[in-house]
Parts: sequence; structure tokens; C-alpha cells
Amino acid sequence: STVYLNGVFMAAEEAKVSVFDRGFLFADSVYELIPVVDGQGLEMQAHLQRFANSLNAIGITVEMDWQQLCLQLVEHNGGGHQAVYIQVSRGSEGRRSMTYSAAIQPTVFACCQPIPAPLARPVEQVNGVKVVLTEDVRWGRCDIKSTMLLPNILARQLAQRAGAEDALLVKGGLVLEGSSCNLFIVLNGEIVTPPLSPHILGGTTRSLLLQLARQAAMPVSETDISVAELYSAEEVWLSSSSRGVLPVVKVDEQPVANGQPGPVWAKMAALYQQHTGTYTQP
Ligand code: PLP
Repeated sequence: STVYLNGVFMAAEEAKVSVFDRGFLFADSVYELIPVVDGQGLEMQAHLQRFANSLNAIGITVEMDWQQLCLQLVEHNGGGHQAVYIQVSRGSEGRRSMTYSAAIQPTVFACCQPIPAPLARPVEQVNGVKVVLTEDVRWGRCDIKSTMLLPNILARQLAQRAGAEDALLVKGGLVLEGSSCNLFIVLNGEIVTPPLSPHILGGTTRSLLLQLARQAAMPVSETDISVAELYSAEEVWLSSSSRGVLPVVKVDEQPVANGQPGPVWAKMAALYQQHTGTYTQP
């Protein structure tokens, strides 16, 4: 495949980064993942705003037309439907040191991978997924989309071993989000998702779902969710760019309500499909 590295499109095999790159040594880097469907980025502006926020939060400045980079990279890789990954690390100064100078040049990398063709999947055909609960051991700035993903990877491995789609992360008795997705529940008829804070990543799909729900006059609230509330919820959903809005039918070994995707999810999924022209993955 063709990747982008520091101003040049090149074959992936040709792309080389220093062993002293601070992304490699310290995860001193941030990233974004943007699905591009038929030449159009899903929630492109929201992704790019979040990327700008992440870069700004760690004090890296890059002059770049990110949207153009994404679309060019997809073209270089044969077009179609692709998930574009962009990563900026602080760069390398040729030695390992916690400190860096003002002269350091960021390493800018992007690649993409094909994603399945969109198919308008009738909501009746979407199977619900299982999640597991695990302790959130991440740092205090989860709003920064950092490549420091070890806690997320461990949580995801736990989920995989349990035959689950993802792990939901619990901190101080509150269920915050998944290892790579946001959390929604339906409780007493109201759609609830945890509020934006440094403890979660503000998902572009989360924002879109809130906006669509409000436009459709569905009751929504951005409020903390306790473990007890999760277990007593009528519905549980996950949201992310790559998964859309996905119904959860099992938490650990306990079914969610009657163990079937619920009617509020079906309505939300239909609104999401309509808006994005895309689909919710099985
Ligand atoms: N939360 C975390 C920790 C994530 O890594 C992600 C996405 O990768 C999300 C939430 C969902 O964000 P988005 O809807 O923008 O894909």
C-alpha cells in the first residue's frame, strides 16, 4: 500500500522512522482514524477538529491540509472505502531523552486500510453484541487521542478472550466508555451517555447521535452512568466511527433487558443510516 510520511507519498515498505522517534520511545504522539466512504470522510470536520485539539493539547504545531491529505491518500490506494489513519509524533532528536528542544520537527504519518462496502442493512438483521466490564486504568486525559493505548489494548484483549465485542471501562463505580467506543444506555425511556470530560474521548459518532436524537425530539441526557444503571438499562449501545451505533445484548453473562436489540436503538440506527448513507456493522 501507499503511505504518507513527512511530505512524501511512498510504498509502505519504503517508509522509515527513526528508532529515536518519540512516538516509538514514549508514545509522545496523537492520532485520528477517519472512515472515507465514496470519497467522503464521515464526520470529517469533527475528526479534524478533534485532531487539532489533540495536537494543541500536547503542544505540537503542524501546517497541513488534513482533509486533502486523507482524500489524496485514499486516491493513491485505489479509492473506494478506506479507513484513514493519521498520526503525528513529536519527532526525533537522535537520542533518548525525556526533554526536547524547541527545534524538534514532528513526524507526520498517514496510511489507510480498506473497509467493507457500505450496505444498507435492515436493522432487523443486526445482531446485538456482548461486552464485558473492566477497571479503567487509563490516565487522566482520555480526551486527548494519544497513541498510548496499552490500557485499551489490554481491555480489548480481555474482551476478545471473553468472546465480547469490547470492554466497558469502569472508574469509581461509573461506566465511562469502551476501549474504542462511547457508551449509550436507555434508562426509563431516556437516552443517556456520560458527559464530556477528561475521562472519555469525545466521539464524533457520540456527537452525531446526540444531534440526531435531539433533532428527532427523542429524550437525551449527558449524565454519568453507574454500573447498577447499566445493569438495569432497557438498552445499551456502543458508538464509534467504524461501528456506527451497535446494540449490546449482553453485559458479562447478563442479558440486557430481554436480550434483543431494542426499539430506541432501531430508531437511532435508522436515523444514523439516513444521515451517513452508511450502515451499522453486524
Ligand atoms: N472512545 C475511545 C476511547 C475511542 O478510541 C474511540 C474511537 O476510536 C471512541 C470513543 C469513538 O470515537 P469516534 O466516534 O469518533 O470514532
